[in-house]
Amino acid sequence: MGTPFGLDDDAFHEECGVFAVCGNPEAAALAALGLHALQHRGQEAAGIITVDNGSFFAHHGIGEVGDIFASPQVMARLKGDMAIGHNRYSTAGGGGMRNIQPLYADFEFGGFALAHNGNLTNAMTLRRQLVQRGALFHTTADTETVVHLMAMSRANDPVGRMIEALRQIEGAYSIVAMTQNKIIGVRDPMGVRPLVLGKLENGSHVLASETVALDIIGAEFVRDIKPGEMVVLTPEGVTSLMPFQPGPSRMCVFEYIYFARPDSNIDGRNVYEARKRIGAQLAREAHVDADVIVPVPDSGVPAAIGYAAESGIPFELGIIRNHYVGRTFIEPTDQIRHLGVKLKHNANQARLEGKRVVLVDDSIVRGTTSRKIVDMVRQAGAKEVHMRISSPPTRHPCFYGIDTPSREKLIAAQMEIDEIARFIGADSLSFISVDGLYDAMESAPRVAASPAFCDACFTGEYPIALTDVSTDVHNASASALRSEAGK
Ligand code: AMP
Repeated sequence: MGTPFGLDDDAFHEECGVFAVCGNPEAAALAALGLHALQHRGQEAAGIITVDNGSFFAHHGIGEVGDIFASPQVMARLKGDMAIGHNRYSTAGGGGMRNIQPLYADFEFGGFALAHNGNLTNAMTLRRQLVQRGALFHTTADTETVVHLMAMSRANDPVGRMIEALRQIEGAYSIVAMTQNKIIGVRDPMGVRPLVLGKLENGSHVLASETVALDIIGAEFVRDIKPGEMVVLTPEGVTSLMPFQPGPSRMCVFEYIYFARPDSNIDGRNVYEARKRIGAQLAREAHVDADVIVPVPDSGVPAAIGYAAESGIPFELGIIRNHYVGRTFIEPTDQIRHLGVKLKHNANQARLEGKRVVLVDDSIVRGTTSRKIVDMVRQAGAKEVHMRISSPPTRHPCFYGIDTPSREKLIAAQMEIDEIARFIGADSLSFISVDGLYDAMESAPRVAASPAFCDACFTGEYPIALTDVSTDVHNASASALRSEAGK
């Protein structure tokens, strides 16, 4: 889900994980486990809504899944054999409890719950029109726009209303929704965000952002939901609809580079293998004589393994990560972010002293992490430090669901590569090329205007209209909402 553009320039609140299960007496427990496996997609808040004989039960909380759903009393209240759940990634405060998904609304047809991963790029424009027509929004999340559009729809069943609503929506989204008797899953027409279908031994179906959420509950992978596809899950089975004109598929390439868990498979590709191939390609493109290949853990590990294998230079854990600290990105201020890096990583001096070191990481966003890490490795006695990045330079913000700061804070949008190298203090710096990335993804060569992936953060080629950004609507509405969001 996303908060409206402009609400907080430094942190869009958009990365998320979704999960749904239909026809299982353990629905809430399965949803909690699924969300736990998707915790990397969002650590700020989570929620689960269940249905039992037409009645809805909800529990939302701030923090991590394991804490929010730890209490047996909470779990016992989440009765029923259908559930949907959501993890939210956001900085502190992002709209408070009200914005935690799944959202719930009462319609003429009964209760309705909805959760989404991604970002709706015309939500603010539609929101303004809806407010002019009398709609009263309860949250600052773009997701709520879908609910209001459904309320306005004249279609007589929830599926029809949702189709009508989503036909007006632009953006990247994977949605799970739930009525009294069915679960609905949707992937946007370009399939930018992932969504998979799985099946449990008892025949009940599940939907999840990533296959790791199927693994944790022992569900078998059935298939990826297709771009533009809507699936309707009932205890009787799965119905597939194609209500939206599917666009050319544009899965987010950054899911493979960084965001998804390495043990997930997305659209037929294993994430870990893709990362290793990217690392190998990087070694071919940007070789440097060195003694040791060191990943920035954990995000740089698979690419560093690929780099080391390709270059023949030994792989070593020259930096050790403390797993009991959250992601540095979550920290709200630059100062804390600096501190966060120190909390999270420590140099393994014995492996670095006197060595020519190649550091491998997945991306440079602000440059803060790399700067600290390079410094730490030098302090540990490294003779040379070469930085290799398994993505092309991130020069453009994502408007489709990955948390990136505004352009001014993207170091690669502000500096040339040799300037970045100086800024982070590295002896050399290389990023994988866009063409090399496509090669490593085992995809056809990139064709401008119809690439196989969404790579807008690297190329600036945005495949889905940015209606809210290209009008002034987000500025106008954001200031009105700012005080609102702080409540
Ligand atoms: P920075 O200090 O801003 O350059 O941070 C770059 C680090 O943040 C990289 O090592 C990535 O592993 C990680 N990273 C990249 N993109 C994201 C994101 N959207 N959310 C959280 N972490 C990220």
